[in-house]
Amino acid sequence: MTVRNNVMVVLRIIAAADEIPEVDRTCTCCNRRLSGKVAWLELDQRTGKSHDHGGGPADKSQGWFPCGLRCARNEVAKAEAP
Ligand SMILES: [Zn+2]
Repeated sequence: MTVRNNVMVVLRIIAAADEIPEVDRTCTCCNRRLSGKVAWLELDQRTGKSHDHGGGPADKSQGWFPCGLRCARNEVAKAEAP
């Protein structure tokens, strides 16, 4: 979790799909081919849920995985649901 001036900062990391090597250019959520813009989500190794940058504890990260923008929105909403 990133805290700046006591405010938690959560950032969605957006990048271009063509920056990802061809063989890895699939959505982590649904396995669909990625094109255009993608979101990078960080997997929390304790819960198996995906977060935006700052949305989970950095020391529990299992790494970063690319998702389509719509899947990313769904995944983060799921992770943040009570
Ligand atoms: Zn997907």
